[in-house]
Amino acid sequence: MNKRHKNSLVWFRRDLRDYDHAALHAALYESQHVFCIFIFDKEILSHLKNKNDRRVEFIWESVRELKESFLQKKSDLIVIYDSPEHAISYAINLFNIDAIYTNRDYEPYAINRDEKIQKIALAKNIAFYDFKDQVLFEKNEILTALEKSYTVFTPYKNNYLKKLSNTTIPRFDIEPLSQNLAQFKYAPLLSLNDIGFKKTNLHDIKIHTGMSGGKLLAEDFKERIAHYKKTRDYPAIKGVSYLSVHLRFGTVSVRQLIRLAQESLSEGAETWLNELIWREFYFQILFHRPDIAKGKAFKKDYESIPFENNLDYFKAWTEGKTGYPIVDAAIRQLNETGFMHNRLRMVAASFLVKDLLVDWRWGEAYFAEKLIDFDLSANNGGWQWAASTGCDAQPWFRIFNPVTQSVKFDPEGKFIKKYIPELKDCLAENIHAPWLAKETQKFDYPGPVIDHPTQRTKALALYKSCKS
Ligand SMILES: Cc1cc2nc3c(=O)[nH]c(=O)nc-3n(C[C@H](O)[C@H](O)[C@H](O)COP(=O)(O)OP(=O)(O)OC[C@H]3O[C@@H](n4cnc5c(N)ncnc54)[C@H](O)[C@@H]3O)c2cc1C
Repeated sequence: MNKRHKNSLVWFRRDLRDYDHAALHAALYESQHVFCIFIFDKEILSHLKNKNDRRVEFIWESVRELKESFLQKKSDLIVIYDSPEHAISYAINLFNIDAIYTNRDYEPYAINRDEKIQKIALAKNIAFYDFKDQVLFEKNEILTALEKSYTVFTPYKNNYLKKLSNTTIPRFDIEPLSQNLAQFKYAPLLSLNDIGFKKTNLHDIKIHTGMSGGKLLAEDFKERIAHYKKTRDYPAIKGVSYLSVHLRFGTVSVRQLIRLAQESLSEGAETWLNELIWREFYFQILFHRPDIAKGKAFKKDYESIPFENNLDYFKAWTEGKTGYPIVDAAIRQLNETGFMHNRLRMVAASFLVKDLLVDWRWGEAYFAEKLIDFDLSANNGGWQWAASTGCDAQPWFRIFNPVTQSVKFDPEGKFIKKYIPELKDCLAENIHAPWLAKETQKFDYPGPVIDHPTQRTKALALYKSCKS
């Protein structure tokens, strides 16, 4: 068969796998020789102040696995630490590339970066193709009857499910085309040190990286998916999938996960599919409202809530020392592992905004720095939901009671004790509000920084003052 291109370049970004991959599939189908590249983007990495960043190590490990997989096929993965403009231009010249293939990314920085690369390609008379891969439905594929983007989840979900029922989820089978991978050998992989980073506790906390890690977690979750609805809200129970970091870096294929949910035919699977749809909902929100990436509230009324922004409270929150065990255990889980259970993300975010009266943007930035699965759209969506400033958010007058949430979702305090060893001998009846315990049950643990009922009243007044 006559191929459209002689030498193509597939640029991997947040799609670190070599199976069911839209751009790689298209390149292999249309090209004689396919070269693959991953760029450690100097611009992005220079903004990460903490050089012990679990995400960078996760990416590095996943890139290592991807490179090994290409090496086994007598091909290679070109890995460069530079700006995308330099790295792509270098690869174009070195391998006489006549087409670039990549999967689309919907974050404003990425859109801007890709426009620059398209310009370079155009100037050199090189084709540039991008593909939908990160989501099942993107951009304007799910719109209201008036052709507007959705701002409320339920009708979006209903439309999504309708479209899904009429769609055959594509499979981008790589194996039958892999003979078109260019047979070549590039340099050995740069070390973490070479890109200015250090090893973290990723292995100690047993975070499985790369395609193999994603596969392992997906298989493990398949056995539990039917129970998801009943168990997903309890942080002490292994009820959720823990796949978010793999969805973030594309070490799993979202199409395969949606298929997994469809095939499982259980109430749990239905609920889980809902969560994958929330993910896509927030992607399309960010695509249509890129201003939210610059600190703008989704709802204009709540753009300038006069938060108190008490620095001592914020510090106590970031250190897991607010005196509210469920909030502190959640933050300590985040600090120690880079993960936080979804129920606790909601509780911790609500507590920061509506109890400590600190701007949600501070919390959003803190999560962005610490979360291993940090995704701009979901993180912003989650924070604006908790702060009642977002699309389809928690109503402003609904304020989580941190003690009630703790009683309900960690009844025996198992999760709390895991992350707050100071409370290991605390009785279950005292663990949710240890300051109320009798003298015989006192611990080396801070008292509450605030009084919830008092702060609740203040928060309600603050929000009320913003309503137009
Ligand atoms: C304040 C706040 C911040 C958040 N920040 C992020 C973030 O930076 N990155 C991120 O991936 N998720 C974020 N979430 C959503 C959610 O908490 C995580 O996706 C989830 O906890 C990841 O665990 P899991 O993979 O076991 O999820 P599961 O419960 O197994 O869900 C499966 C997948 O669905 C998606 N998903 C689940 N819940 C949501 C949701 N509410 N919004 C969007 N997608 C969802 C995720 O991709 C997740 O991996 C945030 C939520 C809140 C309230």
